[in-house]
Amino acid sequence: MSGLRAIRGEIVHFLGDPADLGSDALAHFPDGLLIVRDGLVAELGPAGELLPRLPAGTAVDDYRGKLVLPGFIDTHIHYAQTDIVASYGEQVLAWLEKYTYPTERRFADPAHAAAVAEFFCDELLRNGTTTAMAFATVHPASVDALFAAARKRHMRMIAGKVLMDRNCPDFLRDTADRGDAGSKALIERWHGRDRLLYAVTPRFAPTSTPEQMALAGRLFADHPGVYLQSHLAENEREVAWVARLYPEARSYLDVYERYGQLGARSVFAHCVWLDDTDRARMAATGATISFCPTSNLFLGSGLFDLDRAQAAGVRVGLGTDVGGGTSFSMLQTLNEAYKVQQLRGQRLPVERGFYLATRGGARSLYLDDRIGSFDTGREADLVVLDPAATPLLARRTAVATTLAERLFALMLLGDDRAVAATWVMGEPAWRRP
Ligand SMILES: [Zn+2]
Repeated sequence: MSGLRAIRGEIVHFLGDPADLGSDALAHFPDGLLIVRDGLVAELGPAGELLPRLPAGTAVDDYRGKLVLPGFIDTHIHYAQTDIVASYGEQVLAWLEKYTYPTERRFADPAHAAAVAEFFCDELLRNGTTTAMAFATVHPASVDALFAAARKRHMRMIAGKVLMDRNCPDFLRDTADRGDAGSKALIERWHGRDRLLYAVTPRFAPTSTPEQMALAGRLFADHPGVYLQSHLAENEREVAWVARLYPEARSYLDVYERYGQLGARSVFAHCVWLDDTDRARMAATGATISFCPTSNLFLGSGLFDLDRAQAAGVRVGLGTDVGGGTSFSMLQTLNEAYKVQQLRGQRLPVERGFYLATRGGARSLYLDDRIGSFDTGREADLVVLDPAATPLLARRTAVATTLAERLFALMLLGDDRAVAATWVMGEPAWRRP
């Protein structure tokens, strides 16, 4: 980690939620300077004011003509499913059987896990994503591989070993006790080490016995600061299956609540098929929804109701859900999020979109005191976006008259090609060749 360095460019970040603060939520420096000391944000302001005060010899990376934003935050992704992205034809339950379980089986081999983890972390950085919350597989060594790859790159990573002890193939089946012991050992080994955080990871209610669900809830309660991640109300057939498996529960969400899995730092992917009581419980307990639009469309799961979640006061982040999702790019994720809201008769303003991908994502993970903005003292993770990355983007950007228009063009037309560079902890971690 270096001492002092600076980044010059058009700098944009959020001071709060645009839904609360309106246009005051966005801070914009057309020619800005971000000064970083020992990996943390030291100062942000107009380049004209800050440059003359920089100590002589300070390295300044010049990104004028490009947009500098806080690094993107992906709140739901499966690293072990990297190789099955874009696999044809199924909805979620058949998808698991046909594609997911066979590919996750290969992670019994630590060398395979390490190779995929390396690719996965590089692919996140190529897409401007500096923090992810990821599922590994049932194999403890798959978590070791992912954390090791993230640590090498100084990335923030939240991850955990999948807990699954029923309704799955023998070759991936854990037991309640073994899953519990394995999770405890991984928490000891990794949680809080550098920028790594552990998440207790029951895949979803149907693949855990009540005994395993109870142990997962206890792990979550007994280890302060540890996360819990799972899936919730993705697909209507899945919801009906959960109702048969847990007839005593009021709803799918209620299953997780009964087993002590709802609270601050528990993150549930999808949440397409919730009712108002579910949303109220999530808001009251501080639980988080990860909205995964490319996955919800690709797997035909349904249209997430962002407005209702927001009105209920539930924390929401964005997730790619690769491999059910179809892109590592948070820009493409925003593109599909916008269209999902259109089909619901709702709007996703561009400011709210980029807020969800940065500071809002950080807030949804209870990490907004560390990442997601350029507030002083934050970890200096950032993405440099090129509004002229492709001929079409360049042409559209040339006739844009406002920042919002240029950001919207990036959100609709941009992908990994639009990421000129990604920085992690105040150091370049990836640069577009
Ligand atoms: Zn998922």
